[in-house]
Amino acid sequence: MKSIIENVTDDIWKIRANSNIYFLDFEKKIIIDTGDRGLRQQTKQFLLKVVSLDKVEIVIFTHLHYDHIGNFDLFSDAKFYASQDAISDYKNNPEGTVLVKDIAEKFKKINLKPIHDEIQGLKVIKTPGHTKGSICLWYEKEKILFSGDTLFGKKSHGRLDLPTSVPGNMRESLMNLVKYNYKILCPGHDY
Ligand SMILES: [Zn+2]
Repeated sequence: MKSIIENVTDDIWKIRANSNIYFLDFEKKIIIDTGDRGLRQQTKQFLLKVVSLDKVEIVIFTHLHYDHIGNFDLFSDAKFYASQDAISDYKNNPEGTVLVKDIAEKFKKINLKPIHDEIQGLKVIKTPGHTKGSICLWYEKEKILFSGDTLFGKKSHGRLDLPTSVPGNMRESLMNLVKYNYKILCPGHDY
């Protein structure tokens, strides 16, 4: 599979690598999701075109599936954030939360911090469904919604049959996202 990097705006890049990684060149350098470990070399190569990895200060996970956390350890100096629900699910059931045992094990060395309502101008929206701890991020200034695996283009949504899914909450989460009249959708996958 090819990895592709493209600009979303002047200071936001998207890297396609099975799942999408976003780099935000804000006052602090931010990564949203870190992609699939199977594409580690390509991911690193493309990211290095736009940022030195040790300059990334904040990594935010929309949720903790293996294809979104896989390359967490490329960012040696970053602080890592996920929702409290995602962190609790991971503590209770690492393999069920990550879906791949080996990645769940590697991820144990990370110091995950709970994310609050806002981080660096990004509003945190809780969207339980695909996983209990899924979040979306809203960048009001450019009306961009980073939607993880909650909402994809063409109005489709993430799977609801995984170990930490809460299918009964998905409808309300999607209805909540409708309120954000986004101009640009930045989903976790280009399905
Ligand atoms: Zn997922």
